[in-house]
Amino acid sequence: MSSFPDVRLRRLRRTKSLRNMTGLPFPGPEKFIWPVFIIEGKNQKIPINSMPGQYRYTIDTLIVSLEPVISSGTGGILLFGVLDNHKDSTGKYAFDDKGLVQQAVRELKSHYPELIIFTDVCLCAYTDHGHCGVLNKYGDVDNDQTLDLLDKVALSHVSAGADGIAPSAMMDGQVLSIRNALDNEGFVNSIIMSYSTKFASALYGPFREAALSKPGTGDRQSCQASYRDGHLALRESYADIDEGADILMVKPSLFYLDIISKLRETCSLPVAAYNVSGEYSMLAASSQNGWGDLNSLVQESIMALYRSGTDIFVSYWANQYSEIFGTH
Ligand SMILES: [Zn+2]
Repeated sequence: MSSFPDVRLRRLRRTKSLRNMTGLPFPGPEKFIWPVFIIEGKNQKIPINSMPGQYRYTIDTLIVSLEPVISSGTGGILLFGVLDNHKDSTGKYAFDDKGLVQQAVRELKSHYPELIIFTDVCLCAYTDHGHCGVLNKYGDVDNDQTLDLLDKVALSHVSAGADGIAPSAMMDGQVLSIRNALDNEGFVNSIIMSYSTKFASALYGPFREAALSKPGTGDRQSCQASYRDGHLALRESYADIDEGADILMVKPSLFYLDIISKLRETCSLPVAAYNVSGEYSMLAASSQNGWGDLNSLVQESIMALYRSGTDIFVSYWANQYSEIFGTH
């Protein structure tokens, strides 16, 4: 009884009801975090050309645009500040209590107290050279000096009301440093969702258009993990567990299902997958060119992440959850 004709695998997928019963359900909207870009000013919602359906928002337009996203059940957001001004060599505007992100967090929390707000903690949007930390006299990012600044950024975000912070600078020791800084100030319940394994990837192109964050010189390959070395990539995440991360994150996601599934099997923290801009743009472009049905493409790709062990989906599709998953 172990092979054809006794075994007929088609039996279990013969009808939609059977497929629904035997298959996994799609992950609910509460498992999604929507990454959003905020800009200074009022009453603006600027389309991001390479990411149809995504915008740069001023705080007021974000508040309006969030209403349907929250009513559809989306779990949370991840905020990125996008700035034209206020940049200098150390990126100190990143921890200004009256800064853009800090102000956005305060206003969003007062409108939507239940919304889970994470903030990106890095310096690249705030430094005039575009690197994720301060540079030493040789022009290299100074890891240890950068840690002090990241602590200040994290503190300013949780003081404004953020539920958690997502450090993305990929400095060694950043999670430990931030955890200590938060605890010392009494923010013992603030969550750290670490970009624990962040690859140097060609899939960030559209994000860099959205966040205006290309480094002025060089690149970030010394900060970010190499996709040719999966072992080192896993060590990055294991190091963050030891340093006190609450949630791990793999970024990008779809080309790294092996890393997600290994992490899922070898640790007990929630694993988030950042379904990045290039992954979004690929599917959006495919559908715009008539090469594939958007909802089917997104459903299939999200399910691939889910099967690989993803617990939390950091995804630009989150603001279209009902359209995409509402009809399956
Ligand atoms: Zn950065």
